[in-house]
Amino acid sequence: MTNTSVLAEIDRRADDLVSLTCDLVAFDTTVRGSAGEPARDEADLQEYLAHRLRAAGATADVFTPAPGSLPVSPQTPAGLGFDGRPQLIARFPGTGGGRSLLFNGHIDVVSAEPMAAWSSDPFRAEVRGGRLYGRGTCDMKGGIAAAVVAAEALAALGVRLPGDLLINTATDEEWNGAGTLASVHHGVRADAAIVPEPTDLDVVTAQRGILGGTVTVAGRPGHAEHPPGDWRAGGAVNAIEKTLPVLAALQRLRERWAADPAHRHPLLPPPSIVPTIIRGGEWWVTYPASCEVALDITYLPVQADEGGWASRVRDDIERTVRAACAADEWLTAHPPRFAWDTELPPAEVGSGHPLAGRLAACATALGRTPRVLGEPSWTDAATLTRYGRTPAVCLGPTATRPDGSPTLHTIDEYIEVSDLVDTAKALALAAVELTGPA
Ligand SMILES: [Zn+2]
Repeated sequence: MTNTSVLAEIDRRADDLVSLTCDLVAFDTTVRGSAGEPARDEADLQEYLAHRLRAAGATADVFTPAPGSLPVSPQTPAGLGFDGRPQLIARFPGTGGGRSLLFNGHIDVVSAEPMAAWSSDPFRAEVRGGRLYGRGTCDMKGGIAAAVVAAEALAALGVRLPGDLLINTATDEEWNGAGTLASVHHGVRADAAIVPEPTDLDVVTAQRGILGGTVTVAGRPGHAEHPPGDWRAGGAVNAIEKTLPVLAALQRLRERWAADPAHRHPLLPPPSIVPTIIRGGEWWVTYPASCEVALDITYLPVQADEGGWASRVRDDIERTVRAACAADEWLTAHPPRFAWDTELPPAEVGSGHPLAGRLAACATALGRTPRVLGEPSWTDAATLTRYGRTPAVCLGPTATRPDGSPTLHTIDEYIEVSDLVDTAKALALAAVELTGPA
């Protein structure tokens, strides 16, 4: 069996690849943003994939993690349940003596709202001008379809891989990565993994950690058209104005982080702190009693603690804000309160690891010019690498429009059909290349 016949088989299946992606898009798997939200079509999608993979010769396990089965950590809420949100692990058994390879993808997608802004129904994907439009086409139901068709093509050709080929499709990546985390706890692991997230067919080997939280600054209400008076004598305090030094301190910390030589990473952007939501005040004629700012924080592997978590980052932020408040008597007496939420640990596959180079060679064989890069955001590859003892990298379709703007999470998200086919081809070549004898 030559690579040429593998590539030809995938070309022959291009229409099927598009229609599988359309089928996956039609399942509404919009991500939940909290533990209590009811499931949508997640179970139906997983059963659909399991049926298809079994028909191609795989064993497929669709399992619903028990509530509270995940270890208590800053990544997921305690007691998190998966009712109606099963995970799937399928296995094409190898002939023996090879290394195992895992394709992992998330089935959840971000909200398609505002739906009316789309040029076509986001859940009824359609091809226009060589592009397949629909929510999740690029991030990342197209990547999942590519993995399935790659495995089906190899099976149809009778290719006997020495190592096992696994496909794991998981929920909740767009929220907190709980699905792949649960899959890892269920025993999903392999000698290497590829996550076909959108990467422009580059190989992504490193990613930053994510920390989410809020800082709340207290004020004291009073009539806004009257002088506030002395706060020590019960006078009003404007919480919005007291938030300004906090924001300035966070901005200075971001600049200090970026300038710190210890924070230079060959593949990753520097760590960052971005205020993303601000809520303050109760009434337009009242001094605001409180002001809350949500923060999106990204941190480098070098900043993580021993467990990969952001404890040192949290300390750094809280210390910096406390120091900035020392110049203000109200803020000293009423220090801003921090509430820390989701943490997603960073991970990287070492630059010396052969996985990146061998996968890049598969993309090169398709006439692409893949680079080895870091990811500014976060993916389930981090969970596989860090907790699954499975070095994981990302390689998938193009995520930018010709003008350079991203297609991910946008209105009129699309995937180039040629990219969909190239992703399936790269994954099929990778399966042949990476499941050889140990
Ligand atoms: Zn994604």
